[in-house]
Amino acid sequence: MTAEPVFITSTIGPKTLRVMPAKQQDGLDPYMAQIITNRKSGLSLNHIIGCPLDCGYCVRHFWGNFEVKIPQLLVTTPEAVEMLVGNEAFRPHTTPLQLFNKATDPMLPGVKPHTFAVLEELDRRGYTNLVLIITRFHVTPADMNVLEALRNVRVTLLFTYSGIRDARVEPIAKTTTTVDSIITAARLRQRTKVILYWRPIVPGWNDDADTMADVLDVGRHVDAVVFTGYYHKEENATYLRELGVEVPYEDDFQRRKVLPGELDAKVVQAWRDSGITTPLFRKTSCGVTYGWQAADYNGHLGVPEICDICPEEQVRRCRAALKAPTEEEFRAALESFGYDIGAPFLVEDGHVLTSALGEQRRYALQHELGYQVWEVAHPHVHAAHGRALQGYVLSPDEQRQLGEARDRLAAAARYDDD
Ligand code: SF4
Repeated sequence: MTAEPVFITSTIGPKTLRVMPAKQQDGLDPYMAQIITNRKSGLSLNHIIGCPLDCGYCVRHFWGNFEVKIPQLLVTTPEAVEMLVGNEAFRPHTTPLQLFNKATDPMLPGVKPHTFAVLEELDRRGYTNLVLIITRFHVTPADMNVLEALRNVRVTLLFTYSGIRDARVEPIAKTTTTVDSIITAARLRQRTKVILYWRPIVPGWNDDADTMADVLDVGRHVDAVVFTGYYHKEENATYLRELGVEVPYEDDFQRRKVLPGELDAKVVQAWRDSGITTPLFRKTSCGVTYGWQAADYNGHLGVPEICDICPEEQVRRCRAALKAPTEEEFRAALESFGYDIGAPFLVEDGHVLTSALGEQRRYALQHELGYQVWEVAHPHVHAAHGRALQGYVLSPDEQRQLGEARDRLAAAARYDDD
């Protein structure tokens, strides 16, 4: 394995990444303390937390970690790799993985040697899993040499680039760092895939025609553009408002990202008008799998309105792969992960309806089956594309359908109990 990096030269971070003392770790928010979590885009390894980039909308606001500017290790990197591959949800070659997508940037000078150490160790073990690296920081030709030397793991670099010019929202907006990195990575990629991760798109921040055209112009260079909205939660909204930034949403805080239908249509139209040939996607896993010419591991084709902008060749791939699990297969999947095989579920058209299974278990099942696994308490609204319901209204028909779904699942659960 690559030697554990210890002394790291950095202009913005620490010279040494230290393991956080146990006492301090005891005081962390439980979510921050979780080193492995299953997210929709993949099983995530986050054994380094802390970031100096100060993005105003950072999700670390939610878990009381935003003030921690110096990345610190929760465990050593060799220990973290063992935790990842030993996790109940890890499947060699199939489980999509993400590195440092929660509480730091994987390309910060102090973090980057650990990012590479994990990738090199997974590669040395022969795992061909997709690995998502989401960054907005420097990616140099030397970094691309490291990534291009990998032979097994399938790495996708996703560059968060919003075109936002307000440094209160994104301090990095004052620099050309992200665009330079995108151009460098795109120019030097051979095996590695490069995605422009266009987010967050927020009315008034970056949805004017010129900004959108500029972002899309950068998108000419990459394999795919993925767009999405903003996590509108009290903590980051308060922070931004205290800086004087207007947050254009009402305080109806939601668990999913906000991207109203009007804005979705505007983005798609801007992409069409731009004339770029790079495909545009609404979902991260769609962009990643398109890059690797694989079917979407989240089975988004089960929600066909997501796919109306997808290249036909990719739709064909997904269509060929999309298969509803039988009840036996779903129970076998539950059992294979060690989950409660008595949990109520109902296989429906394009998704499996479940109740109280928990988000992380649902994602493990979804990645394993390539089929959407929904929670009955979190309704999917037609054309909301799985986003927050702000900007969308449940029609009477959809309200009725939701009630019916709850009834069906309840009936299935009663049947199971029998
Ligand atoms: S066909 Fe649909 S699910 Fe498949 S990659 Fe395209 S948008 Fe995603």
